Amino acid sequence: MRSDEQEAHRLDKADPGHRHLFLVPPADGGRYPEAAYLAGNSLGLQPRATRRELLADLDAWRRLGVEGHLAAERPWLTYHELLTAPAARLVGASPAETVVMNSLTVNLHLLMVSFYRPAAQRTRIVVEDAAFPSDSYAVRSQARFHGLDPDTTVVRLAPRPGEETLRTRDVTDFLAAEGDTVALVLLGGVNYLTGELMDIPAITAAGRAAGAVVGWDLAHAVGNVPLALHDWDVDFAAWCSYKYLNSGPGALAGVFVHQRHLGDPDLPRFEGWWSTEATTRFEMAPVSRPPATAEAWQISNPPIFAMGPVRTSLELFDSVGMPALRARSVRLTGYLHRLIDEVTADRPLTVITPRDPDRRGCQLSVRVGAGSAAELTKRLRHEHGVVADAREPDIVRFAPVPLYSTYHDCWRVAEALAATVETTS
Ligand SMILES: *Cc1c(COP(=O)(O)O)cnc(C)c1O
Repeated sequence: MRSDEQEAHRLDKADPGHRHLFLVPPADGGRYPEAAYLAGNSLGLQPRATRRELLADLDAWRRLGVEGHLAAERPWLTYHELLTAPAARLVGASPAETVVMNSLTVNLHLLMVSFYRPAAQRTRIVVEDAAFPSDSYAVRSQARFHGLDPDTTVVRLAPRPGEETLRTRDVTDFLAAEGDTVALVLLGGVNYLTGELMDIPAITAAGRAAGAVVGWDLAHAVGNVPLALHDWDVDFAAWCSYKYLNSGPGALAGVFVHQRHLGDPDLPRFEGWWSTEATTRFEMAPVSRPPATAEAWQISNPPIFAMGPVRTSLELFDSVGMPALRARSVRLTGYLHRLIDEVTADRPLTVITPRDPDRRGCQLSVRVGAGSAAELTKRLRHEHGVVADAREPDIVRFAPVPLYSTYHDCWRVAEALAATVETTS
């Protein structure tokens, strides 16, 4: 007998989260008015506070025109600085190591300009075989940019036969054996497909010990799991803000550069007028004077209307705090896993995400053994109001987000799977 709906309601009462701060889309089908939104790993929901913030910035432009650069309530000239400290807190960095700018893949390229510097035998880039396609294309194009063959330059580490996720040893053993050919290790902190949380400090240490530079794509890690990038000695990292950071589609992304690289005059870097120190920027000098901070990686003046949503979101993370969020996340995902176990026992569905909470964030990925994942998510949405997403050919991802997801959402997932997928017995 499956867990009952009343239990889900009881758990929600005891452990309510912060759903009231968000706008939840209406259900597309089924018997509940609101969607059970489990796609926050793809696009986070809109905080209620975002609209007001955006309108205020729009209003400053209307009232002030060009004077808004200095006279707006949040002057545009320094607006990005308001995002720096809260973003730094979220990833465990100092403000000097952090900047919010551009979008994720653009930032990966800008960072690789500085930190992927193939030389002699040390040319290879290590990624995971289940890397997000944008990352795969980015590293291959970087190899080509340096005149190297992407097929031999990019190493894709795959799980052992019969296993779904990488073991830390799979990565560290490779680095111990072949690390002298590796220029850059660039992995996802939490894998987008499997939901696996990598051992970031252990792999970073192994990569650096092998003489490689170690960067992390934190698209699925930031706002999902606690991070301590500075203490973990990570060389660089980048993340987007539209998944767990709820800052809206295409939101401004973030960058971390470790202190030891700041102000290094020998690092190559692409520059523009926002790369030079702010105090002398408007002297319009022909040669830049980059600050010894991550802001040196900025190029253009930033899109002001994209800043408010990030600011609103980061304030939320500051006020709730990652430790509390992570604790609720472990409870919520554990509950969903338990319910899905009940359903998968006699259905062709397999959870491929590690069971150990220390090896995952909030996402559970389910392999669909019969029929198509895309067809299944369509039915979940239209027949049950459950929003999840499909990754071809056979993975459906469910992410109970600790800020706004409920135990009842998780219960609806299990109910909908039970009603949609035929039993094998
Ligand atoms: C979401 C995601 C991206 C998206 O890249 P954009 O540049 O923001 O379009 C890239 N890499 C990973 C690992 C992602 O999860």
